[in-house]
Amino acid sequence: MIRKQKIMAVGAHADDIEVGTAGTLLKYKDQGYDIVYVMSTNNMSGGNTTIKEDGSKETVKESPVDMMKLRKKECDAAAAVLDTQPIHLDHPQRHYNGPDGSQIELRYGCDLPEGVKENVPTIVTAYEDAASIQKVVDLIEEHNPACILTHGIADRNVEHLTTALLVTKAFWQAVENGFRGALLHWRNDYTCLGEINTRWETHVDISDYLDQRMELLGKHRCQMPTADDPDHGHRLRVLKYGTVCGCKAAEVFTWVRRYDIPDLDTTENFYSPLIAELIQNSV
Ligand SMILES: [Zn+2]
Repeated sequence: MIRKQKIMAVGAHADDIEVGTAGTLLKYKDQGYDIVYVMSTNNMSGGNTTIKEDGSKETVKESPVDMMKLRKKECDAAAAVLDTQPIHLDHPQRHYNGPDGSQIELRYGCDLPEGVKENVPTIVTAYEDAASIQKVVDLIEEHNPACILTHGIADRNVEHLTTALLVTKAFWQAVENGFRGALLHWRNDYTCLGEINTRWETHVDISDYLDQRMELLGKHRCQMPTADDPDHGHRLRVLKYGTVCGCKAAEVFTWVRRYDIPDLDTTENFYSPLIAELIQNSV
């Protein structure tokens, strides 16, 4: 009996999971994995970008309630392609759009924007909050994924960084409780932090999933209205990684911890196929 395997992907904002690892999720969904799709923030900020008739882009900063509604709807559509439904941890983002489109920061007794629950820490401090960490530990233990994928810690977006901290802290707590799965951070392309993002330790060959990756990104229409552009940055980036990795297109990762193989338990598969590819491609 082959145990049903799961991959848990955790992103800060609607579209982050797809930017980091859409090809990997699509590839291994086709190999029978269930995808656990987790959003750490409530997606209340950002803008709604559309393409006007003359081809120019227009971004409208909608209210937190409208942004949440729109971005969660797009999340539902993307997760549906992966045969799953998003799980929202709903940590408020650190800011939201005011009625005049200005950006309002959540701090120092600021009124809560409409639609935001009280007493939930923003994503910026969630990794220091025991109850927020426990929620992620519970999810890991409930789903027992072969592998967890999330943001890397060299990221200029603080909500990506603090999502990585939250997930990584929860991961180690789950490991202490006996969790054996792997954790990897996906790499972004920010070279402003030095060369760390031009290095990685392993990759997944997504050559056969390049178009599907971009279609999945396009489900987040308010963020990615031009995902079908053949020169889209998120297409070129995985092609660039592929050139280095010896395949057409690749998504790249660093290990936090590899899958922990049980020594004596021969009833369990040694490696699930995704873990096998990640180990095979490790440098
Ligand atoms: Zn993001």
